[in-house]
Formats: sequence, C-alpha cells, structure tokens
Amino acid sequence: DLALAFQPPSDLTTGRPVGAEARARWRGPLGQPVPPDQFIEIATRCGLMHQLTRWVLNSSLREFSRVWAQGHAVDLSVNVSPVDLHETDFPDMVEHALETWSVDADRVTLEITETAPVRETRQVLAILERLRGIGVRLSIDDFGTGHSSLALLRQLPVNELKIDQQFVRGMRESKASLDIVRTTLDLSRNFGLSTVAEGIEDPETRAALRELGGQSGQGWCIARPVPMDQLLDWRQAKTARPVSPDAARTQPRG
Ligand code: C2E
Ligand code: MG
Ligand code: MG
Repeated sequence: DLALAFQPPSDLTTGRPVGAEARARWRGPLGQPVPPDQFIEIATRCGLMHQLTRWVLNSSLREFSRVWAQGHAVDLSVNVSPVDLHETDFPDMVEHALETWSVDADRVTLEITETAPVRETRQVLAILERLRGIGVRLSIDDFGTGHSSLALLRQLPVNELKIDQQFVRGMRESKASLDIVRTTLDLSRNFGLSTVAEGIEDPETRAALRELGGQSGQGWCIARPVPMDQLLDWRQAKTARPVSPDAARTQPRG
C-alpha cells in the first residue's frame, strides 16, 4: 500500500517554508510501515524502481496541481533513483508527467543521490542535460557521502546541493563534520548553487547553520514528513505571521 509524505524545508533566516519534498511510504501486508531504504532496495532488485518513480512523480504532481489550484504556491522536490538515470526514456516520462498535470517545470526539483552520477558518467550526464533542457531543477541529495569530485560537479548541470544529515547532525560535536558543512556551503556559493541542510534536529544546529551562511534547512526541528493536508496547515501557520527562526521553536511542528 503506497502513500506519499511531504517534508518542507524552510528558509533558515526567515523561518518561512520554501517547498516540499515528496517521500514514498509503504505499508506491508499487515499494515506495518516498511522503511524506504528497504522497499527501494526491493524495488530495485525486482526491476520495479522505474515504476515506483513514475508513481511518486505522478502522484505528487497530482497533489501539487490540486493545491496550486487552491492558491498555495509550493515548489515540489521528488527523489529520483540512480536507476532512473540509466533509462534513456526517463526525461520523456518526466516531461509527460509535467504535461499531464499542467505543472511548470521550474517548480519541480529532482533529487539525485550523490552516488548516482558517477557511474557511466557520459550517459548519465546526457540524461541530466536533457532534464535541464526540460526545465526542471536538479539537486544532489546526500552531498558529501558519495564520490562526485569537484571536476564532475563543474560538469553537472545541477542547481542545488543537499548537505547530508550525517554532517549536519555531527557538526556540533565533530570538527570534521563542521568543516564539511562549511566547505560545502562555500563551494555552493562559488558555484552559484542553492543549499539545503538536511537532518536539523535542534534549534542550536539551525542557528549554527544560519551563521555559516546556510540558506535553507530541513529536519525534525523544522517539520516532519506529513500528509499534504497537514503540510498545508503547517504552511498556513508559518506564513500567517512572520516568525523568527528562534521563535519558531515554540511553534507546533508540522
Ligand atoms: P532523503 O531523500 O535524503 O530523505 C531524508 C530522510 O531523512 C527521510 O527518511 C526523512 O524522513 C529523514 N529525516 C528528515 N529529517 C530528519 C531529521 O531531522 N532527523 C533524522 N534522523 N532523519 C530525518 P525516509 O523518508 O525514511 O527516506 C530515506 C531515503 O529513502 C531518502 O533519503 C531517499 O533517498 C529515499 N526515498 C524516500 N522516498 C523516496 C522516493 O519516493 N523515491 C526515491 N527514489 N527514493 C526515496
Ligand atoms: Mg531527498
Ligand atoms: Mg538526503
């Protein structure tokens, strides 16, 4: 039984929501939640990943076209599997989904885990170029955990880096993690990329990221992944009156 949950990142300075990331949720036959890492591995092994991505893309675009029609301007991020980048018709599938739900391409970001673009670089690069040609934004998820070298980053047509949660969670205790976060923020500035720091679990980490110049962040301290209607309530509460990020900690979580 497949469903979607949405987790919004917010602007680290103003506390305002800046979009929503769709995540697949799956319940097993007994109704028990199966962690994404597990069912994604199963889907990949069974050759079903492409179908899963198609489902997530179309279902989240359908939800978004509904809430956009109601006047909520939310940008959408969708996770894409490395497997998808080896399917030559993947960009066509994306284009078709955008047409079906009448969604402007530049409102949609595809998140690609960092390990993806390294294998068969030329072929993957061609697919990424085609996706950029369609107009969707591209983001490198879990940045810092994989192998994308600086040279590769220069070639990749990406718009955004998502700093992996292990570094964000570790940055208050470990100098090495802090250095990685700081370096990634510098790097993004130099390359003109936007950044999202993942896995912010406490207000102190959020404040530290803001001081380092981080733009936006995502994590339990901001909002957990929730169904769309809950996300809309959360957004409404956040945008109704300006909140400073420090005041935001006393707000109910989404
Ligand atoms: P991801 O895209 O990097 O998503 C971040 C994961 O960290 C999510 O777990 C999220 O619930 C969790 N998270 C968010 N904030 C915090 C926090 O403050 N602390 C902690 N400890 N965790 C936090 P989730 O939903 O279990 O997803 C795990 C991974 O599975 C995702 O990593 C993504 O790579 C993959 N995934 C999830 N949904 C999809 C999907 O629809 N398609 C594809 N291809 N992959 C997906
Ligand atoms: Mg992601
Ligand atoms: Mg991640």
